[in-house]
Amino acid sequence: MIVAIDGPAGSGKSSIAKLLANELGYYFLNTGSFYRAITRAQLDMGKDPLDRESVLETAKNIDISVLDGNICIDGKDVENVLHGPDIDQFVSPVSSDPRVRDIVNAKVRELAKGMDIVTEGRDTTTVVFPDAECKFYFDATPEIRAQRRIKQHPEGQSYEEVLKAIIERDNNDKNKPVGALKIAEDAIYLDTSVLTIKQVCEKVIMVVRAKKLH
Ligand code: C5P
Repeated sequence: MIVAIDGPAGSGKSSIAKLLANELGYYFLNTGSFYRAITRAQLDMGKDPLDRESVLETAKNIDISVLDGNICIDGKDVENVLHGPDIDQFVSPVSSDPRVRDIVNAKVRELAKGMDIVTEGRDTTTVVFPDAECKFYFDATPEIRAQRRIKQHPEGQSYEEVLKAIIERDNNDKNKPVGALKIAEDAIYLDTSVLTIKQVCEKVIMVVRAKKLH
């Protein structure tokens, strides 16, 4: 069984997907972390994250794995250094190259082979797992999503800066030539703006359990 959730940054995908995976006993796979890891590696090597050929080389050369749900680059756990504003700024351009996307998608599909998973990202319902049994699209207003981000990472940026960055990333993610963020025809659309994590989780679990019975 594959449960796939797409949606913009701060729509609640990660929190819900983790809870859901826990509740169902499924493996959790956050596809955005792979693009974040490539961006991290590129920046740590002092290379330009906007240089497409150089980013592609990095994506080809590093080994990304998942250990206990944490992303590792060449065996080193980097989960804690994937969510700063430096990564937020460059991850969308890094993930815009279809060749980089092919590398990530192949890795994600390989990890998912033969497993029950809950996965989330921007194109998990449309490109990575078009045949997923359960598909969701989570949404929320940019203002609510910016507030959530500030709560998650209170250090550093102001509300205005976070809101601006979220809107920029939305635009970039929705206008990629390949793997753009869009609502799959067979996805269930959920606006999480005024819902608690628990309420969203209950709705999703109901759908997944109903599918499992079929
Ligand atoms: O989900 P998260 O915010 O960690 O994703 C970071 C970025 O990675 C997104 O803004 C998007 O540009 C890219 N991404 C993607 N396709 C996915 C998951 C993430 O292009 N399936």
